[in-house]
Parts: sequence; structure tokens; C-alpha cells
Amino acid sequence: MTRAIKMIDLPAEYLQLQSQLLPKIDALLLSGNYIQGNAVKEFEKELSIYLNVKHVISCGNGTDALQIALMGLNIKAGDEIIIPAFSYVAVIEVICLLGAKPVLVDVDPTYFQLDNHLVEQAITSKTKAIIPVHLFGQCTNFDELLKIAKQHNIYVIEDTAQALGAKNHKNQFLGTIGDIGCTSFFPTKNLSCFGDGGALFTNDDELAKKIRMIANHGQSKKYHHEIVGVNSRLDSIQAVVLSHKLPLLNTNLQKKKEIAHLYINLLEKEPNIELPKASEYTEASWHQFTIKVKDGLRNPLKTFLQENGIDAMVYYPKSLGQQTAYQHFYSSKNLVSDQLCTEVLSLPIHPLLTEADIIYICKNIHNFFNAES
Ligand SMILES: *Cc1c(COP(=O)(O)O)cnc(C)c1O
Repeated sequence: MTRAIKMIDLPAEYLQLQSQLLPKIDALLLSGNYIQGNAVKEFEKELSIYLNVKHVISCGNGTDALQIALMGLNIKAGDEIIIPAFSYVAVIEVICLLGAKPVLVDVDPTYFQLDNHLVEQAITSKTKAIIPVHLFGQCTNFDELLKIAKQHNIYVIEDTAQALGAKNHKNQFLGTIGDIGCTSFFPTKNLSCFGDGGALFTNDDELAKKIRMIANHGQSKKYHHEIVGVNSRLDSIQAVVLSHKLPLLNTNLQKKKEIAHLYINLLEKEPNIELPKASEYTEASWHQFTIKVKDGLRNPLKTFLQENGIDAMVYYPKSLGQQTAYQHFYSSKNLVSDQLCTEVLSLPIHPLLTEADIIYICKNIHNFFNAES
């Protein structure tokens, strides 16, 4: 029997929340406080308690969070920012918008994270910040990266869009360790709303004040604009949704972890794929379950799964330097990233998947390789 298994099932998730959440949304709509009301303040407070970080400043989306972080740290034209070559486009986009220069550094082939050794080699007198992306919900030796940054007097901005709720080996939440953490509440992320949303985290009081001003037209008081800012605010209605969903985050992460372990048990004897590993430095959030498929079989496997009703996605088909808009930043040293783009395949992993779903997916993966040989 063919099933239909999606990467994520937003309507089904909503149905589970509907009866308790709708009255809260109704109350917000009746209050008329649609922008920057109490709902936003309350959510920021709740998230700062959850993450054990001093300041949470919400904003319009995760891409804006990264831009505001760079603006908060006075990043200007000509400054160099070190980023992983294997990542989502948001990071490189905002660096370019500010006229700064992205320096693409390769990732390690196992955990898909910035290679610290290569970061050190890429640092110049113009390097102002490093943006590690906790891709797919994990990190590697972050202490070492922080030490390198400190030695060279460079800021660290964590892109935690895929890792909210994940921790390092010292039980600190990712996103709260560097100078600034950025996250996204896009519908597919670990903690998500019903539209766009984002936030920044920091333990620095002065920086928090400045970030809050930048996100709201550079004003600390209405119509008194002290610095150049942007209009990037979390809608009150999304804050209501996020406050409702935050208490469910740990349970959802736990479910995804169980699914990841089930995948690993069922697939570990399949010789034709390489399974993801959780690094010893992370309590991973399993934002994605990303396998590697060699010998040009990734795309045929994806098609085969699709034909059997299973969604699987390629995050990402091109490294950042291979994208047309950013090809002038391409570095021939990004070989691991370029190779990964031909091999990675992310399988469905969301809290509503059943054991039968995972067994069905794994059976189809075995079938594909057995039919091939
Ligand atoms: C989703 C994502 C972003 C951007 O978040 P938006 O809210 O969509 O702007 C940035 N970085 C990474 C790694 C992401 O996955």
C-alpha cells in the first residue's frame, strides 16, 4: 500500500492546537494591539527564560535577525565576514546588502559545520565576524571557534534558525553562546508560527538596547530616530501562537530524536548510504535527518521515494559560491561543500510521523538499492 508522507504536516499540527489556540487568537484580535503589544513582550520574556539568555528581541523573520545583528555590530562596507559555504542563502544575502564581503569557508563532511581549522586560515585584518550556522540542528567544537574568534578580536553571530532548543555539550542552548544568536520562526522550523517571525538573543545589555532600536526604525522613543534602522517586528498574533507552542517544544524535539534513532536502527545495515551522526558536542535538535548517497544515486533515490509517496528534499542543491548571484565569491577551496550538494538527501522527520511511516520509508530505501544491484 502506498502512503503519502510529507516533510512536514502543518494542517495536521494545527488541528492538534486549534481548540485551545483559537480563543487566544480571538482575544488578541479583540484587544486591537496588533503591533508591539503585551503579547510580544510576554513571548520574549518566556523565550529568554527557556533559553536562559538575558535578552530576546523579536523581529520580522530570521533573515532580518541576521541583518540586524550585523548592523548592531557596526558591520560596514569592506568588512569581511566568514560563513560556511554549505548553507541557506540568508547569511550571504544580508552580508552583501550591507556592502560587506562574505568569505566562504568549507564545512566538515560529517557534521556539515564550519571547519575551525579553515576558519583560522581565512582570517585577515579585515575580518570582523564569523557566522557559524548550526545546520540541521547541531554544532561541533564551538568552544574552539569562540577561542579563535577571541584571539583575533572577531565577533561570533550564531545562525540558530535550525537549532532552537538544541544544546552544546555543556548544556548551554545554541544561540546563547556567541555575541548574538539569531533564529527564525518560519513554519518549518523547530519553533514556528503561522507566517514569518524571527528573534535575536544576547547577554549584552548595550547591544540588546541597540538591536531593539534598529529593529524598530532606529528609535528608542517614537519619532526620535537616533540611528539608521529597519522596520522588522514580530506581529502580536504570531507572538500569541509562539507563546502557545513554546511549552510543546521539548516534547516535539524529543519525538524527533526518537524518530532519528528509529531511522538509524533501521538503516544502519544499508551499505549504500551514510547516516547522519550527532556530534559529541551537541544535544542535536534533529531539524533534519540528512543522509548521504554516493555514486550519483541521490537523485534516482529521491525520485523512487517520490513515486512511492514519500517526500524527501535536497538541502541544498548548490553551495553558496555556486549560486549565480554569489558566484564571484566562489572559492575552489569549498570542495567538501560542493560535493555534499550532490550527495545529501533529507528524509521526513516531524513529530506526527508514526513508527509505521518510518518503517515504510526505510523499506523503500532498501527496495531501491536491492532493485539496483
Ligand atoms: C530559515 C533559515 C534562515 C532564514 O529565516 P527566515 O525566517 O526564513 O528569514 C536563515 N538561516 C538558516 C540556516 C535558515 O534555515
